[in-house]
Amino acid sequence: MPLLSVVIPMYNEKEVITETYKRLKSALLPLEGDYELIFVNDGSRDGTYDVLLSGAGDDDKVKIIDFARNFGHQMAVRAGLKMACGQAIAIIDADLQDPPELLPKMLEKWREGYDVVYGKRKSRQGESAFKKFTAFAFYRTLNALAGIDIPKDTGDFRIIDKKVKDAILSMREHGTFLRGMVSWVGYRQYPFEFERHERFAGTTKYPLKKMLKLAFDGIFSFSVTPIKFLSLIGIVEIIAAFVMLVLTLLLKFGSAGWIIMSVLLVGGALMLGMYILGEYIGRIYEETMDRPLYLISRTYGFEDKEQKER
Ligand code: UDP
Ligand code: MG
Repeated sequence: MPLLSVVIPMYNEKEVITETYKRLKSALLPLEGDYELIFVNDGSRDGTYDVLLSGAGDDDKVKIIDFARNFGHQMAVRAGLKMACGQAIAIIDADLQDPPELLPKMLEKWREGYDVVYGKRKSRQGESAFKKFTAFAFYRTLNALAGIDIPKDTGDFRIIDKKVKDAILSMREHGTFLRGMVSWVGYRQYPFEFERHERFAGTTKYPLKKMLKLAFDGIFSFSVTPIKFLSLIGIVEIIAAFVMLVLTLLLKFGSAGWIIMSVLLVGGALMLGMYILGEYIGRIYEETMDRPLYLISRTYGFEDKEQKER
């Protein structure tokens, strides 16, 4: 079993991939222990696969997964995790925004006993004001809505222990939002601060559409708070209906008053009905995600027991 597996998702990264490979190789040179580099080609159409193969094909540490089409960054990471054999697994972007040179230092923290060492961005260089603002707003909204504490300004750059990887892979949700899942599983986590660099070459592979999908996956996989808004609207409408009733009786608004009151009352009742349906759908959704019911960090005095209750 190698000490470290490095998962590198890549989509149309032919300008960077050879450099990324070289930087990873020299960064991991001082590593005391074996490692593997798992490149996941997420349906690139620019020949990334061939470029990588011609530069790194005879390296026995290199493994490549070639997707049938573009399934998205999160799925690429998931596929890499599934194939990773290491005791610790690193996830790193292919564009060198996350410096490979930090991996040995992060691994040190893992050796100290942390199960998750996640990269926390101190600064983001070379990114548009729009990207910075949306990221800022997203992380704060998500934390306000989600039931768990998802660290702010944190991407997928991290090292996780094998047991964390196994826990994540046992979560079967389609709207995969890895950084949320890693927070959800718990265990001992360490924030590793770093400067996020500029992309080495090429342009972002995360256009607004993909960013929005990721944001919605994050919000809807980790929070049922949006459903609760329906109940709030319903209650406000019903209260407004009663206020209208009193006003109509006292101030003799006549038929207009009665009509407004009925509309508010029916609207409020419908909203509450939808909220009740939503609660059930939310529960069905949670069941279908089939997450483990709980995860055990350690036990004392038992023989080895199955971690996941089925
Ligand atoms: N990526 C991927 N599939 C996609 C989009 C992106 O595998 O559909 C990879 C990409 O090659 C990179 C990482 O995900 O290694 C992060 O993407 P990018 O750097 O474009 O995002 P940004 O840093 O601009 O948010
Ligand atoms: Mg990037």
